[in-house]
Amino acid sequence: MSNGLVNTRDMRFILFEQLEVEKLFESEKFADYSKDTVLMMQNESEKLALNVLLPGYTAGDREECHLEDGKVVVPACFHDIYKKYVESGWVCPTKSPEVGGQGMPHVIATSCLEFFVAANFPFVIYPGLINGSAGMIEKYGTEAQKKKYMYRMFSGEWLTTMCLTEPGAGSDVGALKTTARRLPDGRFSITGTKSFISGADHDLTENIIHPVLARIEGDPPGTGGISLFIVPKYRVNDDGALGELNDLYVGNVEHKMGIKGSATCTINFGDNGNCIGELLGKEREGIKVMFNMMNEARIEVGMQALGYASVAFEHAVAYAKERIQGVPVWEMSNPQAKAVPIIQHPDVRRDLLYMKAIVEGIRSLNYFTAYCLDMSHIATNDADKEKWHGLVELLTPLCKAYASDMAFMVCSKAMDVYGGYGYCREYPIEQYLRDCKIATIFEGTNGIQCLDLVGRKLGQRKGANVMTLFGLLNETVAKAKQSDDLKKYGARMEEAVNALVDLTITFAGLGKSPNFLIPVLNASPYLELMGDVLMGHFLLQGAGIAENKLKEIYKEKGADSIDKQQALVHDNQEAAFYAGKIAAAKFFALDALSTVKARCEAIKVGDKMPIEMADESFTI
Ligand SMILES: Cc1cc2nc3c(=O)[nH]c(=O)nc-3n(C[C@H](O)[C@H](O)[C@H](O)COP(=O)(O)OP(=O)(O)OC[C@H]3O[C@@H](n4cnc5c(N)ncnc54)[C@H](O)[C@@H]3O)c2cc1C
Repeated sequence: MSNGLVNTRDMRFILFEQLEVEKLFESEKFADYSKDTVLMMQNESEKLALNVLLPGYTAGDREECHLEDGKVVVPACFHDIYKKYVESGWVCPTKSPEVGGQGMPHVIATSCLEFFVAANFPFVIYPGLINGSAGMIEKYGTEAQKKKYMYRMFSGEWLTTMCLTEPGAGSDVGALKTTARRLPDGRFSITGTKSFISGADHDLTENIIHPVLARIEGDPPGTGGISLFIVPKYRVNDDGALGELNDLYVGNVEHKMGIKGSATCTINFGDNGNCIGELLGKEREGIKVMFNMMNEARIEVGMQALGYASVAFEHAVAYAKERIQGVPVWEMSNPQAKAVPIIQHPDVRRDLLYMKAIVEGIRSLNYFTAYCLDMSHIATNDADKEKWHGLVELLTPLCKAYASDMAFMVCSKAMDVYGGYGYCREYPIEQYLRDCKIATIFEGTNGIQCLDLVGRKLGQRKGANVMTLFGLLNETVAKAKQSDDLKKYGARMEEAVNALVDLTITFAGLGKSPNFLIPVLNASPYLELMGDVLMGHFLLQGAGIAENKLKEIYKEKGADSIDKQQALVHDNQEAAFYAGKIAAAKFFALDALSTVKARCEAIKVGDKMPIEMADESFTI
């Protein structure tokens, strides 16, 4: 039974059958966990999502955030949701119990998070920043800073932000103008304006801790001259008591297309020269420290994307089963023909199967990335640690950019399935589409993620990370080719993998030659190609497992003919699930993977038209 948000059967398939996460629990770090505890936690998070977060989703959109006497007021229902979310222990589940967490494996926490983001992402943005922000203080802060700020952030008593963007410094963070002037007591006076800051002000907690990127007076331009500062809304005395209001205020709340329950504000620091901040980490290492939070946030954006794709897909399937419209195509000329649910129409089925493949593919991608993070933490030697950590690095831009591009497409297709009703506010799809779009923009636009993949990640560890990934893809090809049923699809996958490897080697060979612009120009299609091939990999890997499970069910139920097997798939939920996994993988291999080689070849031609064309020719 669908809960309308997330396919929990697929969630458990990926965790226990595909990733075999139970092996993680053999390590000392995760010894307290078992399949039973995981199922219990998922049950709890599902209930919290459905009963507490979900009811505030549309209400938050309609009420929006607004300024009242210079203070931001969030949707009223968010207060109760926040209280219950904190009480249920979901602020920092992956952190160690010493700082208030549960020591939960990332992959398990990620799967639980899927319920929350699918239910009410605009709300989740508020607590969603704590892990990364307090995590920076945990890693780089002094003992005094930990005592003053960190514990109260991890406990959810205080919320936090991430202050990078400025009016003139969006993608180019190095262009920031916010300054930090040294004070005699070692602290700093911060002056500047940050724009588009999520959760910059609100009435959910009595204090808000802002990590702010700024340049200490006299430090060099560019990212190498940036430092990071802890700037509390209310100053905090050494004994932990709240002091006076810091010299900062919110100038406005943005009126946005989506995520309206999340306050996005301009925040002004130090208009009166009295905004006090403390250095976090070393001087001029602000970007390095901030990247700890940004990487985590990028993976979380991938989860946001998954949440929206999942909930939009679940709704589209339910609607397609109910909405009666049109006669079957084979009865077009029969005036007596009865109208059928739209799920009977081939074009609708095609869209639904593509959406299913994408949702399950990006679910696997996100869970696998979280699993790699766990593996890097429990690895017992440096080589393994580097391998797993390297995969996280490589896959992060894909989780962020591929997942968000695809999720927007899934939401758009879901709207198509609903027809005109999908465009109306009485149905939730238009909100999913609006809310989902931000995932392609914030935490570094998708354009910037693509450049990060091609310009930085492919070459990391002299290409070892991407070679590890290609090794995994080839293992899937080899396995699929051993199966009579899947070998045809394995061959499609093989062709796609070979084309991607070839293009990657071509990019590496261009080096610093004048043709280096080719990878830059094609960073976006490259990321899409790698994303498609990864989808093929996860889906085909899953299909191989599903094939064996389905055979077992057929055997157990005595379904020894095609007819009996087809009948069983209609009657038996498990058989239907596994058959669906296989169908999605086959469809995706024939559909998306078939075009990979042609798209790679097109890039290799080396056309530079978009660069060479005169600016004036774009429009006259
Ligand atoms: C709702 C919302 C919430 C946000 N929350 C936060 C937050 O909490 N904290 C925070 O610091 N920021 C936040 N942001 C800001 C967000 O991260 C920026 O909007 C984003 O990084 C892009 O910056 P920009 O808007 O200035 O666009 P620009 O940098 O002007 O980019 C415009 C376009 O040009 C492209 N582009 C720019 N430079 C290059 C380049 N060198 N090469 C190729 N393409 C390029 C971009 O990809 C993009 O397509 C938020 C934004 C929104 C809308």
